[in-house]
Parts: sequence; C-alpha cells; structure tokens
Amino acid sequence: MPNESDNSRRPRQFKSFNPSSIIAKKRDGGTLTPQELGAFIACYLSGEVTDYQMSALAMAIYLRGMDSLETASLTELMLNSGTLLPRPSSVPRVDKHSTGGIGDKVSLILAPLLACCGLQVPMISGRGLGATGGTLDKLESIPGFRTDLSGDEITRQCERVGCVITGATKDIVPADRKLYALRDATATVSSIPLITASIMSKKLAEQLDALVLDVKVGSGAFMKSIDDARSLARSMVAVGKKMGLTTTALLSDMNQPLGRMCGNAVEVNESIETLAGTGPEDLVELTIRLSAELLMSTSLENDLAGAESTLRDHLTSGRGLEKFEEMVRSQGGDSQAALKVASASLIEARQSGIVAAIDTESLGLAIIELGGGRKRMADKIDHTVGIEMLARVGDTVESGQPLMRVFARNDLFARVESQLQNAVHIGSDTIARRLLVIEHISD
Ligand code: URA
Repeated sequence: MPNESDNSRRPRQFKSFNPSSIIAKKRDGGTLTPQELGAFIACYLSGEVTDYQMSALAMAIYLRGMDSLETASLTELMLNSGTLLPRPSSVPRVDKHSTGGIGDKVSLILAPLLACCGLQVPMISGRGLGATGGTLDKLESIPGFRTDLSGDEITRQCERVGCVITGATKDIVPADRKLYALRDATATVSSIPLITASIMSKKLAEQLDALVLDVKVGSGAFMKSIDDARSLARSMVAVGKKMGLTTTALLSDMNQPLGRMCGNAVEVNESIETLAGTGPEDLVELTIRLSAELLMSTSLENDLAGAESTLRDHLTSGRGLEKFEEMVRSQGGDSQAALKVASASLIEARQSGIVAAIDTESLGLAIIELGGGRKRMADKIDHTVGIEMLARVGDTVESGQPLMRVFARNDLFARVESQLQNAVHIGSDTIARRLLVIEHISD
C-alpha cells in the first residue's frame, strides 16, 4: 500500500490536497468544487490517487449523486485527459449516441445517411455492454473491416467519405478507460453523473457541432424506467449545452428488439436492406427521426417533415447504401461479401393468443450464451449467431406458429431454447400499439 504522506508523485500544483477528505466530503453529501475534482482526477491519472481511493469516490458519487456543475466539471476533466480529433475543415460535424438496446443497428444506417446530406460523422463507437450488442462487433462481421483507425485516419476519412465508424483511439479520453474498468468492478456503472461524464467526454472529443442521444427505456435497455431514462437524458443534454455543444435527446422504447434481427452479421444484413429502402418500419422510423434531429440542429433543415423527407429519399434512391459501401471499403472491408449466418432453428408459440410482452434483455443474454456476445472482454465473438423476431408485441399468434428463428449451433441452441420460449409472454388481451419515440428532450 502506498504511504499516504508520500506525495512525491503528485503534480506540483496539488501538493496540499488530501484525497480522503474529498472522498469524505462527497460521502457526506457535499458538493465538490472544480478544483477538488481537478486535483483528484489529475492525481488519479498520475498514479498518486490509488484505484481503491478512486473506487471509493466513485461509490460516494453513486450514492450521493452530483449536481449539474459537478457533472460538467468531471466531464471536462475527463475530456482534457486526452486529445481531440483534429478538425481541418468547417464542414458541420455531428454524431449520435445510443445507450444501447437489442437489435439497435441505427448507427450503421444513420452515419451514411447524414454523410449523404453533406455532414461529417466521426462516430466513435463501442463494443457490446451487458446484454446489448456493440456497433463495432456488428461491423467486424464484414471481412477486413477495421475498427482501429488512428486519429489521422478518422479525420482523413471524414473529409473524403463523410462518415467513419471506429473504436476510440488510445489518446481519446484515457481517463474514461481507466475509470470505466473500476466502475465495472465496483458496481458503480449505473450512476447517472458517471455515465454522463463517460459518454459526453468521448463525444466532446470528436469536436462536434451537434449531438443527438437515443436514450432507450424498457426491458432490453440499461434504463428500465422512464424516470431514470429522463434523468440520464436531461443530465447529458445539460452537460452538452454547458460545454457549447447543441445536444438533444429522444427517449425510445426498448420493450422489444428494434427491427427484426438481433446479433452481428444478421444486423449488418438488415442494415443493408434498410439502406436499400426495404427495412422494417420501426427501424426506419427511429433512424430517420434521430437523423432529422441533427439536420435541424445544424440548420440544414428547418422542419421535421422536410428533414424526414430528405432522409427517406436517400434510402429509396440507394444513395445511402452506396455511401455505406464507400465507408466499408475505406475501412478495408469487403463491401460485397455475403455475410455468413449459422443454421436456423425455430421457437414456436406454445399457445394461441396475443403477444403481451417480450423479455428483451433475455434475448440479448441468449445471444451471449450462443457465442454472439461476450461474457468477458477477452471472449471471441461468433458473428454468425443471431435471432430473427417473427412476432412483435400486439401480434395475434396461433399455437405452433414460429415466434423466432435462431441462428446458432444446434448444441448451443438446446441450451437457450426454453429461455427464449419464456421470453415471449402470450396473453388474451388486446395490446395498444406502443410509441417508439416516447419523448423529445432539449433542456
Ligand atoms: N457507455 C459508456 O460509454 N459509458 C458508460 O458509463 C455507460 C455506457
């Protein structure tokens, strides 16, 4: 254990600071000043503040929360722990962040669509988290596709193609990587100020003009209740605004998968169909609505109807698909490859009735069990695994009717068959159609 009085590794301006008094202040419900947070984070990055002290502060923040000024200070400190993406031209830059859901493939469609509108989209994405899939994992189903572009490669591709989807470089918000690993190990991931600082610092590092957040709520989302989803959305919008970034959020329903396909290769295939104008309506609706937010935030369009019509035109004309293929080739991928999918087995309804609810998280967990997601960060993914939903909430189904097609090895399918059966609740009452976009948040 390092000696508490050994401050030789402390940055010079923080020689007098005492980490345990800052932890105690937050533990007792106090408000940390930007100077206190700044000293703590700087000394954490230099190694002077230990992992156990940082974990204690994360737990105090988890239990006591942070006000919007503290959250904005933490975000700025994390942002300043790394470098910004270079921005050589004045072409407006935009991005979207989703809090993650099952079947959420919006990024693969939104980025090329907005590039078709003349915007730049330097999308820094992540891997699967918990039951939800990750954009990078999906794109890596495409042979050769690189998700490890350098800052210069991201900038060059943005200028040339208009859109990039890649992983964070090691220089972007290094504090987040260090802190996230601790949060994961100490059950403090789900703290709203910590999520806000983590997400917003990475988005601010992209040097954007506008950001839209898709905050998902429901059985397949991180946020299960509308109140929690609204608090997270408001927290991120407030920090975006404080940092000078036009930020809006939509709360969207995640009580059933988005689109029909869940997995990796199957989701890329469905994205391609959608970019070719033949995608499922819920996926098209949400993608167009989120993209339209960004066209309006950058004043490229003045009203929602006009923005949506421009975007739908890029889907039906095939320009969206051409842009996606250009992005894939630019990142080393084979844009014409037929993506392999495992052999299919069916899950059938055990009774007739109306689909009342789908335990969406359970579908994500089944995909992990089938090898399509990770239990540990080091696990390899089988991109050929997936689920095709053949019924949606509110549909009338007959006993024996297929509810899902499951793409997996037969022996693994047997392990999740009853879990998947139980994930679809069939009742007798008529179900009102759910709103996909539940709420718009701009302040
Ligand atoms: N995604 C992130 O990038 N950070 C979080 O804290 C949670 C989700």
